[in-house]
Amino acid sequence: MINILVVDDSRVIRKLILNILNDENFHCIEAENGIDALEKLVIKNVDLIITDLNMPQMSGLELVKTIRSSEVYNKIPVIILTTEKNRQEQENCLDAGVNIYLIKPLSPEELETNINNLLKKY
Ligand SMILES: [Mg+2]
Repeated sequence: MINILVVDDSRVIRKLILNILNDENFHCIEAENGIDALEKLVIKNVDLIITDLNMPQMSGLELVKTIRSSEVYNKIPVIILTTEKNRQEQENCLDAGVNIYLIKPLSPEELETNINNLLKKY
């Protein structure tokens, strides 16, 4: 069982992602912003993080920076799933240690393929 932490301030988007990943291989944990995600990391064993960028309290980029500077969580693969198409923002994320940057909307198949490819590397 792969534990995926799904971070998005939109409950609707979280449910959409959960529905896509709702099969026997994946178990999803929800968080509504970066702070909430860090709290979930403490109590759950997380194999992969899918996070939005624009969220109140702590953005996806801030979350990634915090994770990558942590001795405990720095190896967890991270996928950004956002509507943000800005090239600079994309580069900032990759520089911060994001593994894959995906732009919404995308097909369920695309999301699953990216997740599986990333998990194979770890
Ligand atoms: Mg958002």
